[in-house]
Amino acid sequence: MRKIIIAGNWKLNKTSLEAIDFVTMLKRQLDDVTAVDIVVCPVFTALADCSEVLESSNIGLGAQDVYWEDSGAFTGEVSAPMLKDIGVQYVIIGHSERRQFFGETNTSVQKKVKAALKHGLIPIVCVGETLQEREANRTFDVIKKQCEESLAGFSAEEIQKMILAYEPVWAIGTGKTATSQQAQEVHQFIRQLLVKMHGKDTASTVRIQYGGSVKPENIKELTSQEDIDGALVGGASLKEDSFVKIVKNCCDVQK
Ligand code: PEP
Repeated sequence: MRKIIIAGNWKLNKTSLEAIDFVTMLKRQLDDVTAVDIVVCPVFTALADCSEVLESSNIGLGAQDVYWEDSGAFTGEVSAPMLKDIGVQYVIIGHSERRQFFGETNTSVQKKVKAALKHGLIPIVCVGETLQEREANRTFDVIKKQCEESLAGFSAEEIQKMILAYEPVWAIGTGKTATSQQAQEVHQFIRQLLVKMHGKDTASTVRIQYGGSVKPENIKELTSQEDIDGALVGGASLKEDSFVKIVKNCCDVQK
């Protein structure tokens, strides 16, 4: 059985004070939720404050990126032990915005995932095709390459500690959600890749989130698909009402 996991990717939004207010409200509104794992991913500068508010709560804390070295002359970077030190538990790695605007590659994603696991952080590893790639019928080739290269060299035990996120780039922040069938088709493909890499037992335990314009209205149908185990939510995770509803609307979905 895979427990549904909903993670909010706040991107470049909310000051520390705004973040404290928001997680204080979430804690109050979601404190009775046990059926779904809930995670919020604020900007680096708000992580320590959010960590204090969320301590001993049912809401996990994630960062939006991490560097692969522990320390050294790497101006502007933040390392896994530094995140761990302030109570961070998850980290998004390889988000399409990082691939598109900051030169993230499958090779850097692989190194970051390795560093995250080494320090006990749970990586949320993102993959997804662009519109151009989908229209050229290259979706499965692109996803295969991203998964094989980003997940190269990890043992079955390590793979089981990760969360994967399928986020079609054309659906991120555009209001265009993949249909539940389109999403399920790719999630199933990713799980089959995991079967080939590490066998059925391992593949069946790995949670694969969908991301791309998830809203309270579509979360239930998406998570009702066999291989969709939750969502990575951008825009709708910034608003109190919509994030709470997204979590609550999938509480009774059984995987
Ligand atoms: C995201 O940033 O990971 C995302 C899925 O964004 P949105 O929900 O706004 O499409």
